Amino acid sequence: MNRIAAEIVIIGGGPAGMAAAVAAAEVSKSVAVVDDNPRLGGQIWRAELKRTKASAAAKLISAIESGSIRLICNAQVFDVSAGNVLAAATPDGRVEIEYGKLILATGARERFLPFPGWTLPGVFGVGGLQVLVKGGFGVGGKRVVVAGTGPLLLATAEYLRSKGAVVLAIVEQAPPSRIRRLGMELCRRPSKLIQGAVLRAKLIGIPYLTDCWVTSVEGEKCLERVRLQHKGKPESIECDQLACGFHLMPNTELASLLGCDLGDGFVAVDAFQRTSCENVYCAGEPTGIAGLDASLVEGTIAGFAAAGNTDGARALFTDRDRWREFGRVLDRTFELRPELRYLAEDNTIICRCEDVPFAKVKEFDNWRLAKLQTRCGMGPCQGRVCGAAAEFLFGWKTGPVRPPIIPVRSEDL
Ligand SMILES: Cc1cc2nc3c(=O)[nH]c(=O)nc-3n(C[C@H](O)[C@H](O)[C@H](O)COP(=O)(O)OP(=O)(O)OC[C@H]3O[C@@H](n4cnc5c(N)ncnc54)[C@H](O)[C@@H]3O)c2cc1C
Repeated sequence: MNRIAAEIVIIGGGPAGMAAAVAAAEVSKSVAVVDDNPRLGGQIWRAELKRTKASAAAKLISAIESGSIRLICNAQVFDVSAGNVLAAATPDGRVEIEYGKLILATGARERFLPFPGWTLPGVFGVGGLQVLVKGGFGVGGKRVVVAGTGPLLLATAEYLRSKGAVVLAIVEQAPPSRIRRLGMELCRRPSKLIQGAVLRAKLIGIPYLTDCWVTSVEGEKCLERVRLQHKGKPESIECDQLACGFHLMPNTELASLLGCDLGDGFVAVDAFQRTSCENVYCAGEPTGIAGLDASLVEGTIAGFAAAGNTDGARALFTDRDRWREFGRVLDRTFELRPELRYLAEDNTIICRCEDVPFAKVKEFDNWRLAKLQTRCGMGPCQGRVCGAAAEFLFGWKTGPVRPPIIPVRSEDL
């Protein structure tokens, strides 16, 4: 078993974690970044970090490569123990990581909601399909529908089209009035307005259907057809693939395990990105879903604050607050409509890991009972998919989190 120690340890090598590392390394000579992927970059830059044109990415990479920041990739943190020590599973076995200050930058994941047929081959998550294609999965010539809610639909549709997919429609559940309001909000943020306009230009010719959602999908052995509700009327589209996701959910499991306070499902932080636990900071999507710019600025504040550069941190408060406000606008725009609660039928699978249908789960009054009696949420994803769905469908609270927060080999425990 290996043991690693650093004055400042950052969990998560996405934009927030990278920005935190670079800021912290301006002061501290002992900074380490831990990420479960083979390379840095997080969800947005993963696998394409060297090729991305984003100037923020380029700056962060060169700072990290030229600096003394220690990188620990392929390491999934799964437990915490006394004395400021974390346990991580790596291909070479368990590693223990000792920290003086800890910055959590664990990002977010997609939210999935069940509907009849959602387990058919050919149905993917929106970000999931994007990640697969970044990893080499071919979509050339495939007829794809991108559906659900949130800005990721547009980014993914553009990416899939650039890789040769025929994107037939972007299906957004939010009503047009909210999308228009978001458009007006973008006018106050010129960088986002330009980004949005460039994206829309690249998507010309693809219908953007608002007030529209997938009610079911059909196919003999794999997906053949998507059924939609569009402005109150049923419609259907023949296609090969459906990418469907409902905005993002924060990865708060590690913060919960450490005992950090959560408010409304997000990690509660003060102006310096400090959590309720001493010496533990949090930055990026776990504190609120607000996009790349919020993650970068929060990461920088957390890095400065953890390293003792409070003036550097304070200078960024206004910028951070602006992007946080943008996150609240996104939340309002892409709030889920109640109709999505009633799509699942009795035989629709809710927990994919343990094959638990809706009829079994709905017999119970709370998550704990449903889990105990049906094994819902007890599979390899530990409720990351069905827990979020159950919260929306039934209004349940799904905590508490127990170690290991991810499945690990018994010898790593
Ligand atoms: C699937 C997906 C695809 C996305 N694609 C786009 C896109 O194309 N365009 C866009 O603008 N935005 C995209 N986003 C949103 C984007 O990720 C955010 O706006 C922002 O960049 C998040 O940065 P972050 O550093 O907070 O988190 P992330 O980029 O998510 O980075 C968090 C990192 O922490 C790692 N991690 C988490 N838990 C652990 C642990 N226990 N141990 C070790 N490592 C851990 C994760 O694997 C990840 O690498 C996507 C989001 C998701 C979920």
